[in-house]
Amino acid sequence: MAKIKLPDGSTIELDNGSTARQLAEKIGPNLAKQAIAAQINGKFADLSTPLNDGADVKIITTKDPQALDIMRHSCAHVMAEAICDIWPDTKLVYGPTVKDGFYYDIDLDESIHPDDFERIENKMREIIQQDRPFRRNEMTRRQALEKLAGDKYKTDNIKHADSPVISFYSQGGGFEDLCRGPHVPTTGKIGPFKIMSVAGAYWHGDPTQKMLQRVYGTAWQTQKDLDDYLERLEEAKKRDHRILGKRLDLFSFNQAAPGFAFMHAKGMIIWNAIVDFWRDIHDRYGYQEIKTPIILNEELWHKSGHWDNYKENMYFTDIDGISYAIKPMNCPGGCLVYKTRQHSYRQFPMRVAELGLVHRHEASGVMHGLFRVRQFTQDDAHIFCTPPQIEAEIVSVIELTFEIYRAFGFEDFHIELSTKPEKHIGTDEIWDISTNALSGALDYKKIPFKINEGDGAFYGPKIDFHLEDCLKRSWQLGTIQLDFSMPQRFGLVYTDKDNTEKTPVMIHRAVLGSFERFIGILIEHYAANFPLWLSPQHARVLPISEKTNDYALKVLHMLKDARLRCDADLSDEKVNAKIAKAHAEKIPYMLVVGPKEADAATVNVRTRGLKQNKTVAVDRFIQLAKQKIIDKTIDLDFQP
Ligand SMILES: [Zn+2]
Ligand SMILES: [Zn+2]
Repeated sequence: MAKIKLPDGSTIELDNGSTARQLAEKIGPNLAKQAIAAQINGKFADLSTPLNDGADVKIITTKDPQALDIMRHSCAHVMAEAICDIWPDTKLVYGPTVKDGFYYDIDLDESIHPDDFERIENKMREIIQQDRPFRRNEMTRRQALEKLAGDKYKTDNIKHADSPVISFYSQGGGFEDLCRGPHVPTTGKIGPFKIMSVAGAYWHGDPTQKMLQRVYGTAWQTQKDLDDYLERLEEAKKRDHRILGKRLDLFSFNQAAPGFAFMHAKGMIIWNAIVDFWRDIHDRYGYQEIKTPIILNEELWHKSGHWDNYKENMYFTDIDGISYAIKPMNCPGGCLVYKTRQHSYRQFPMRVAELGLVHRHEASGVMHGLFRVRQFTQDDAHIFCTPPQIEAEIVSVIELTFEIYRAFGFEDFHIELSTKPEKHIGTDEIWDISTNALSGALDYKKIPFKINEGDGAFYGPKIDFHLEDCLKRSWQLGTIQLDFSMPQRFGLVYTDKDNTEKTPVMIHRAVLGSFERFIGILIEHYAANFPLWLSPQHARVLPISEKTNDYALKVLHMLKDARLRCDADLSDEKVNAKIAKAHAEKIPYMLVVGPKEADAATVNVRTRGLKQNKTVAVDRFIQLAKQKIIDKTIDLDFQP
């Protein structure tokens, strides 16, 4: 008999050689029906896996988050079979899951086009309807290499696998693929799916290799999940910041400077509103602000280590025969400012912020509107402190970060802590102190976080902030990074209590990351329906006929005197046409005025996105609007 431990701590006895499926059946017929895989001693495995005495086993059902990944990966196998069936010359490379779906890289001389997707999907549907079992076939590494002799891709996959046993999976028919698994028990367990796109991809991302075709697909547990996902994608297309940015005259790109954004007047209003808020909150959190040069000599970048580690992404220039680099990061400049004075522990923690303009070389293929540019402004800061101060400083940065994100209406974050990698500098002691300070600060703030073991930079551990927008897309924005390397490289010191010179701890941190990218995210998150404080324009006065033009101008002056961003539409068009135009420009408040409003010193307010108009005295409207700007209220609605 085999004794199996269940997640609730209880045990179940099974005949020797029983599988995870038999365990699920013994627990209950419902569980057996919903089961798609198992977690055995922490590792995911097929339901057909035999269980050993003493094993810890959890049955994975469609309710578990990992189930989706296993199902999507199984769907990739089915797609591979369908493609091989249609194009027998296909050579399969690899087919992992990605966020929201999966892909398979294939080597096939004939190009696959979107017109072909339906044909592939029909074949896949056939395989799924046949409800064929996934079967695992194990062999030694040598046997597997013999079996796949001549297949350079799969042979390479075996070389990359770390297990001594190599497994193949068949799914009925003659199709078989090298894979470590696990998979759903039968193809019938695969949910609603769709092939999304096909793109070129190099083998291992290496441009010297042959260009492969990467076929993307998505799969979900229910038709509703799939429909919702496709709807989010449609919505994202409508919100594309490149299209809205052009239509609303916020920014542009020009062939004269690929990857370098031109911010227009309206875009700069958004930019400056963010800068004002950023300055105010940093002042409140005890930061000083500095500005360091964009061009610094080559020698400095040797000293900072960027020359050895980052040169490929940097731009260079010559001045008077001496080589200079355009900064990709602000830190070395920050270190030079630090070194202009002597420092004592009494001045610590010292928080120094910089809205630093940095340049990084991006390949032309990866640039994407404001999301990926070659020049951007980083909301950077460096904190110099003693080791015992680290934790309190991290707490303060976390509070600042959350306060900033919430001001923009973001409420869903997740946080990742990356720890000591194999290749690192600094003593184990300082790594322990710092990593504990980071996790201690998160625990203190009761913030759940994910640990990326060994994923920190060689010079220190870090925390990354990921934020979810209204389309459930995740964006990595903020980062807090401890650095044991740069203060040493630059010989930074402070005088400690015992009168000896010591090296300070340096914390790099950014909250928004890149201003350009953040504005791109905001445009898509709000669909360019900006809250009042960020809106390029707050209001437009719309007289219903020429007769009230004078009153419209009077209202306009009152609004301008109150520093509201506004204009008036005195054109000959009908008021409905004026409203439609203001709507298309996404102006928050349309103030319609006619003889009735002129007599009563009021405005009839039509609010963006709302059906009902509200009549309110001009003074009252100004007061309401100003309060919304101060409070950074997202909602535009008001009570007269
Ligand atoms: Zn597989
Ligand atoms: Zn830095």
